[in-house]
Amino acid sequence: MQSMNSQRDKLSRPQKLESSIPAVRATPAQLLAGAALVAAIMAAVCLFGVWTRLAGQLAVFWPANALLLGLFIRFPRLDTAAGWVGACVGHLLAGYIVGDPLPISVLLTLTNFASVVTGYLLLAQPFASDARKLLGAAGVLQLLAIAALASVAGGLAGGVVGPVAFGGTALESCLAWFASELLNYFTILPAVLSIPTAQHREVARQWRKSMPPLRRATPLLALLASMAAAVLVGGPGAVAFPVPALLWCGMRYGVFPAAVLSLLTTAWTLVAISKGVLNTAVEIESPAMLMSVRLGVALIAISPLAVASAMAANRILMAQLRHMAEHDPMTGTMNRRAFAEQAGKALRAARAARRSVGLLVLDIDRFKNVNDTYGHAVGDQVIVLVANLVADHLPEGPLLLGRLGGEEFAVLLPDADHARTRDVAERVRQACADAAVDLGQDRTTGCTVSIGASVSPQAEASLDRLLQAADRALYEAKHGGRNRVVLTDAV
Ligand code: GH3
Ligand code: MG
Ligand code: MG
Repeated sequence: MQSMNSQRDKLSRPQKLESSIPAVRATPAQLLAGAALVAAIMAAVCLFGVWTRLAGQLAVFWPANALLLGLFIRFPRLDTAAGWVGACVGHLLAGYIVGDPLPISVLLTLTNFASVVTGYLLLAQPFASDARKLLGAAGVLQLLAIAALASVAGGLAGGVVGPVAFGGTALESCLAWFASELLNYFTILPAVLSIPTAQHREVARQWRKSMPPLRRATPLLALLASMAAAVLVGGPGAVAFPVPALLWCGMRYGVFPAAVLSLLTTAWTLVAISKGVLNTAVEIESPAMLMSVRLGVALIAISPLAVASAMAANRILMAQLRHMAEHDPMTGTMNRRAFAEQAGKALRAARAARRSVGLLVLDIDRFKNVNDTYGHAVGDQVIVLVANLVADHLPEGPLLLGRLGGEEFAVLLPDADHARTRDVAERVRQACADAAVDLGQDRTTGCTVSIGASVSPQAEASLDRLLQAADRALYEAKHGGRNRVVLTDAV
C-alpha cells in the first residue's frame, strides 16, 4: 500500500466538531517542566494580584484563579498532579514573598482552589465540551453558568476565610469574594480557553490574506472611536457605548480576538472610571456599588462573545456542509458537479493565458470481476487505492481530480501539452498496474486501469468537448486490450 504524501493529503476530509480532553502521556522531565511553568506563572499573577490589594482588603483584581482554570483546560499537558502541586507552590511562594504568615497563606490558597477545583470538575465533564471550546452561543452561556458556580464556591470559602484573613463579617466577605471571582472568570476565562490552536492560526492566516487591511481594521477602529465617544459624552450609559463595535469585532474577527477585546474593554473601562477619565456621573461610595459597576461593565463587554462563537460554529458547519456537497465520501475526491465547476474555472484561466490543457478519463479494468471474486468491500478498497494513486502521481499544484461515477475518474491538467499529458497518464497507469491490494492473510490482488486522454493546445475546447474526446479515447483503450493510454485532440 502507498505511504502518505503531499498530493494524497489534499484528498481532504471534513473538519470535526466534537471535542474531548485528550489523554496525554508525558515524561518525568516534561511533567517537572510543566509544574515549574505553572508555579512560575501562578507566583507572578498572585504577586500582581496582591499588588492590587488595598490595605487589609481583598485584591481589586485577582487573575490567578481564572487563568489557572483556563490553562489546565486549554493545555491538558499542564493538567497533571505535578501541575496542581506547581500551582500550590506558586501561590505559597507569592505569599512568602509578600510576607503573609504561612497559615494565612495556606487558607487563602485553599479558598482560591475551592473555586478553581469547582470550575475544573464542571468544565472537565463530557457535557461541557461546547463550553470548553466556546462553541456556539449555548457553549458560551454554559461557560458563564459554570463560572458563576465556581464563583459561588469561591464566595462560600471566602465567607469562612475572609474574616480570619482580612476581618469584616462573613456575609461581606462572601459577597465580595463571589463578585470578584465572577468578574475575573467572565473576562479572563473565555480569552484563555479560546487561545488559538495551530488549525485556528492557519484559518486566521487565510482570513488575513483574503481581506484588505482597511476592511480588517474597521471594527477595531470603531471600538476605539466608541471608547473615545464614551469619554467625551460620559454619563451612566457611556459604559455600553463600545457594545455595537464589540459585536462587529466578534462577527469579523472570531472568538479569541473577541474575548481579548472584551477583556481589554472591561479593564480599560474600569480603570477609566476609577481614574475619573470616564465620568459615569454615578456616586460610587460603597463597596457594594463599586462591585455592581464592575460586574455591569464585565457583563456588557462579554455579550459579543456569544455572537462571535455562534458565528464561528456556523462557519464550521457551513464548511462541513460545503465539503459534503462537493466531495465523494468514499475517496475524498471531488464529485462530478464540483469537478465540473473547478475544472471549468481552471480551463477558463488556461484559455485566457493561451496555455495547453490536458484531460484524463480513467476507468478500472474488469472491475466487475473484482466485485464478483472478492466482494463489494474489496471493490471499494480498490477504488480508494486507485484514487490515492492518481492523486499521488499528478504534478504539483491544485488537485483537479473528480470521481465521475462508479470506478471512473477524471483529471484536468491545467498546464499540459500532448507530451506532458501522455507522460502523466502513463505514470498513473503504471502506478496502478504496480500496486497491490491487501486482502489479508498475506494475499494480495492487483488491478489495471485504462486511460483516455484529450488535449486542447490553447484551451479553446469546452470541458464537455474535452470529456467527450477523452471518453472516445477511453473506449479505444478498452478495445485495444485495456491497461493502456490513448491520447487524442479535442476539437
Ligand atoms: P471494463 O474493463 O470494461 O471497464 O469492465 P468493468 O467490469 O470495469 O465494467 P464497468 O466499468 O462497466 O463496471 C463498473 C462496475 O463497477 C459496475 C458496478 O457494479 C461497480 N461499481 C460501481 N460503483 C461501485 C462502488 O462504489 N463500489 C464497488 N465495489 N463497485 C462499484
Ligand atoms: Mg471498468
Ligand atoms: Mg466504468
